[in-house]
This record gives sequence, structure tokens and C-alpha cells, in this order.
Amino acid sequence: MQAYIIHFGELGLKGRNRIFFIRQLADNIRATLHDAFEAAVTPFHSHVLVKVFADVPAEAIEARLSKVFGIAYFAPTLITPADFEAISAAALQLAEGVVTSKTTFKVDTTRGDKQFPIYSQDVDREIGGRIVARTGAPVKLKNPDVTVSIQIYEDAAYCFVRRLPGAGGLPVGMSGRVLTLFSGGIDSPVAAHMMLKRGCTLDLLHFHLLPSAELARASKITDMARVVLAPHRLTAPLYLISAAPFETAMADVTTRTATVVFRRFIMRAAEQLALRRKALALVTGESIGQVASQTLPNINLINQATTLPILRPLIGFDKAEIVAAAQRIGTYDLSIQPYKDPCSVHAPNPATWANLEEVQRVEAEIGVPTLLETTLRDYTDEVWIKF
Ligand code: ATP
Ligand code: MG
Repeated sequence: MQAYIIHFGELGLKGRNRIFFIRQLADNIRATLHDAFEAAVTPFHSHVLVKVFADVPAEAIEARLSKVFGIAYFAPTLITPADFEAISAAALQLAEGVVTSKTTFKVDTTRGDKQFPIYSQDVDREIGGRIVARTGAPVKLKNPDVTVSIQIYEDAAYCFVRRLPGAGGLPVGMSGRVLTLFSGGIDSPVAAHMMLKRGCTLDLLHFHLLPSAELARASKITDMARVVLAPHRLTAPLYLISAAPFETAMADVTTRTATVVFRRFIMRAAEQLALRRKALALVTGESIGQVASQTLPNINLINQATTLPILRPLIGFDKAEIVAAAQRIGTYDLSIQPYKDPCSVHAPNPATWANLEEVQRVEAEIGVPTLLETTLRDYTDEVWIKF
């Protein structure tokens, strides 16, 4: 059996919120592990305890745990009877792997069970002495290289020395549902990932220019959605909507505001789907000034198309930072594969400060309400992304 104590970071999580957080986190960890390993995941003295019963490499378990949002760090842990000699043997075994004459260390004991007959500080001192005798390492109480942690409870004690970094954030599922406008580019998959990191559940929407729903289903968009969702063992609907009616309506219209008109059209479609699915906000991969449609004046016009909040988690990021994040998440290689995005076909010289009257004139000319109705009724396909 291999065990891990899961530590979470968000300070200020109080009361009901905290219970909800811990339950959701335990559920998500279970979902991540269960399809591969037999495991028990339980709330545990303001942490979560994970026990894996299968004989599998620790790296395989740790790779999965490192992706679960809501974990600050996690520690591979030895579980012993709540008996001093057993605890000491476990602490020595762990220390021998990492404490040498060239490292400093300390022992840090907490007694969850105040009935345990030896004070925490005495446990620290006695076991610390044994580790010194075995390894020759000096004790250093402030900022040591290694901390040997011991937690003693009524039924068992827990020892660990390694702390592996978690993904941070909040457990997916505790922050409500958002609908992400998902393009074939670099930015929106990163934006989707960041919303997952803040605990949101995702629906996805993509406007395409492909000739059929089948081709849209077979496109890189579904693969990208899978890359974003799979580490969290999430399924989600991906709405694949043809931009063909919009493009046809725009074919004879001359305007420099086409990109803004299209973006407003996307927002209206998104709003309808969000209301159906009880999603509370829309999400885009926009960042100020990145391209012509993403100036503040244009963002203003885009916002006016919906009353739902539009969240833009990348708003203050440079392109290079977004690219680095996309590489980390694993969407980058798919993002740069050639793909004809509806946004790429509009005016060669788009307005950086589109004018509301001009935008509304174009919208009247193409008959947005009817266009929207037709698009949602006859040109919208829904696929469930599974991992
Ligand atoms: P990305 O890399 O996400 O495509 P971008 O730099 O290409 O971003 P734009 O094309 O201006 O930027 O799009 C801005 C945002 O609008 C995207 O991040 C996405 O949220 C949304 N969006 C753009 N095109 C589409 C589309 N075809 N379907 C759905 N949403 C889209
Ligand atoms: Mg794009």
C-alpha cells in the first residue's frame, strides 16, 4: 500500500465552504485515480488521505495527483501504529533516503492525539538524535534542507519527508459552470484551463467553417478539448456551430467592423447556450491589444452583445507567457496546426476602434435575430468530449 497526505493551500476557506472544498477535492482525486488504481480517498484531519492498494510505480500515482486542482502539495507518507518505536523506525527509514552529512534537517511532530504519552518536542528531540547518530547530519530548526514530519493520531501515525508540488487552484466543480468560447488558436485552451484551475466546470463552444458536422467532429478542436479536460477526468459538451450562415450573410457587406460583428454574434449564440445549460459566465482567450478586435473600445462593443459576464483570464498576459502555458498544458502543438478559423477570414484591415452605429447598421443589414435562430436550430451540433 502507498499513501499520500494531500495538503491544500487556499487560506481563508472557512465553514461550509471548507467542507465543500474538501469533499469536492476528495471526489476529484478519486476520479483521477480510480480508472487506473484501486484507491481509498478520505477526508483526514483537515487534509485528504489517499491510499493506493495496487502495486504500481509511485511516479504513476504522482503524475496524476500533480494535475488535480486544489492541491498545494502532497506527501508520500508511511503509516505506522501510534507507537513511539514504530514511528521512530519509519522516520529513520525515510530520513536515510534523503538526509546525509551534507544536508541539514529537523523533525517536526504534531500530536493530533493529546493522549499520546510523549510531548511533540520530546519526539522531535529523541528521533532527531537517532537520525543524527545514523547519518551525521546536523539539525537546523530554521529553514532546514529536509523536514521529517510526524503526525500522531489515536489510531495511527503518519511520517513524511518529501513534499511534491500540487497544481494549486480550487477543486474543479466548486465554482459553477462557465461556457468557454473555444477557437483553434493558442489562447482559448489556456483560458479554459485557467477557469478549471479556479474550480469551474466547463462547457465549450466552437464556431467552424467546415463543410459538415462530421468534419468538425473529426477536427483538431475535439482533440484540443480532450487535452484540456482529460487530466481532470472530465466530460463536457462541445458545441460545434457552423459559421456558414453568418459568412453567407456577410459576403456582400463591406465594412471594417466584420470581426466585431462576428464576435458579437458569437456572444449572442453563447448566451443562448449558456442559459440552457445554466452556465453563469462566458470565457474567452482575449488579451488586451493582442489583435485588432481586442482593443478596449472593441471589447466594450463585444460586451454589449450579452448581459452575461465575459471572463477573460488572459487579459493581462503577454503572448509569450500564453505560449509557455499552452506548451505546459499540452495544447500548443495542436494550436499551431493549420486550421481555418472563421475569425481569420474577415476584413484585411479591421477597425481597432469600431463604431457602434456602424456595427448596428451591419447587424441590421444581415438580420442578426433570424440568423442567430437559424444557426442555433439548424447548424449546431453537440458532442460530448470524453477522456
Ligand atoms: P485564440 O488563440 O484563442 O484563437 P486569438 O489570438 O486567435 O485567440 P481571436 O481570434 O481574436 O484571438 O479570438 C479571441 C477569442 O474569441 C478567442 O480566444 C476565443 O475565446 C474567441 N473565439 C475566436 N474565434 C472563435 C471561434 N471560431 N469559435 C469560438 N470562439 C472563438
Ligand atoms: Mg483565434
